Amino acid sequence: MLHTPHSPTPRTRARARRRLRAAALLASAVSVCLVAASAPPAPLGVGDRLFPHLGNPGYDVAAYDLSFTYSGDNSKPLKAVTTIEARTTADLDRVNLDFAHGRVDSVDVDGEPAGFTTAGEDLVVTPEDALDEGEWTRITVRHTSDPVYPEDRQGGWVRTADGLAMANQADVAHLVFPCNDHPSDKARFTFHVTAPDGLTAVANGLPTDVDRTGGTTTWTYRSPHPMATELAQVSIGRSTVLHRTGPHGLPLRDVVPTKHRTALEPWLKKTPEQIAWMEKKVGRYPFETYGLLMADATTGFELETQTLSLFERELFTEPAYPQWYVEAIMVHELAHQWFGDSVSPATWSDLWLNEGHATWYEALYAEETAEKPMAARMKAAYGASDRWRTAGGPPAAPKPPKNGSKTGIFRANMYDGSALVLYALRQDIGRPAFERLEAAWVDRHRDGTATTADFVRLASEISGRDLRDFFQAWLYEEKTPPMPGHPDWKQTPAEKGTAKASAKAHGE
Ligand SMILES: [Zn+2]
Repeated sequence: MLHTPHSPTPRTRARARRRLRAAALLASAVSVCLVAASAPPAPLGVGDRLFPHLGNPGYDVAAYDLSFTYSGDNSKPLKAVTTIEARTTADLDRVNLDFAHGRVDSVDVDGEPAGFTTAGEDLVVTPEDALDEGEWTRITVRHTSDPVYPEDRQGGWVRTADGLAMANQADVAHLVFPCNDHPSDKARFTFHVTAPDGLTAVANGLPTDVDRTGGTTTWTYRSPHPMATELAQVSIGRSTVLHRTGPHGLPLRDVVPTKHRTALEPWLKKTPEQIAWMEKKVGRYPFETYGLLMADATTGFELETQTLSLFERELFTEPAYPQWYVEAIMVHELAHQWFGDSVSPATWSDLWLNEGHATWYEALYAEETAEKPMAARMKAAYGASDRWRTAGGPPAAPKPPKNGSKTGIFRANMYDGSALVLYALRQDIGRPAFERLEAAWVDRHRDGTATTADFVRLASEISGRDLRDFFQAWLYEEKTPPMPGHPDWKQTPAEKGTAKASAKAHGE
């Protein structure tokens, strides 16, 4: 969804009306009002079956403006100001934001001080005047953002050797800043990052301003494309920003630890041809820039943060990884810019659409550039598929994550198990229809959110066949259906550790 920025005029009129109505209600039904006002603040959610407390009902965020002030010490909290522009979708006496793990100093709603308290992982804000449905409102929270986490709750800041990076997927953006922390509510982002001289800050999108004053520099970044909170990225470190040009003049920038820039260059220069390869498959790159953030940290994953994918530096400087494998991982995160970022999952149960597609293009790139046949990889996945379904649930109905596990839904079945569904689909509807579907999907849902049902509908439309039964079997059943065109493919007995190794290997 796209929203226009708010104008303050209608707000004033709406508020006046609401006050009159409240006065009338008080006169006629005092007890009802008192009961409503005294209900205790409670954590709310948008009803995601995997993360019931993520997101909040009653409003839609149009824009976040985030300011972080970094001291130079990544074990100390950052000072932060988060301003949220939102439109209400219901009458609200209180506004719940997701925020845990930071001190809140003050909250303003439309310039007036507001009350606030904590309930679960929600920051519950009580404005001076209740908000009416359909109003624009501006909420400003002054708070800290603490990059040090308890053992049992990691993320979203990643502490690197020289500063910080961010990894909010799936449910930890609200450990960094107050937000409506669910991918169904995408919004525009502006970042202002202030850091001591000698450090460089980069965030999603393109820079709009650099302000150097008295020993610190403030960088401002902005993107015109809506983004899910889980895809926010802020990098602060002793970094060099390397610029190059992609297809049709697309500006690219990589953020690398300055002391590793020479070693990383042979990898970074591959990005333009990888983007050109993806564009041939699915159409225009969906954003205004792209690049790799090479974090000097051991994260155990790579992450498709929008316009600036997060990678562990060691993936590229550790000689044990074969070249074709590293390149395929680069394409995996690149493919996510279309599948997962530009087109975001409407719920976390739609995650297979992100990871299945990213794994698909990762494997297709390996097939086309490194003679690693897709069919061999899919045959192996087919053999493990029933076991994966038992362990983590079928692709579009994953089992909930275990408590406190940040990446608990990112199981093997989300990767090769979901790419396998796409392989079965291509076998079934044929290569030309499959390729048209892929391009139409990212075109139709660009900058939006989409559901599994949307994918099923579009696949049916493009192939000219009702594919509901096909997808029901492949996405929701406990047992893997027969593979079209490969009646000889069978489930294989468990081997030691294959599922785990595959999940780790394919990143997030
Ligand atoms: Zn992925």
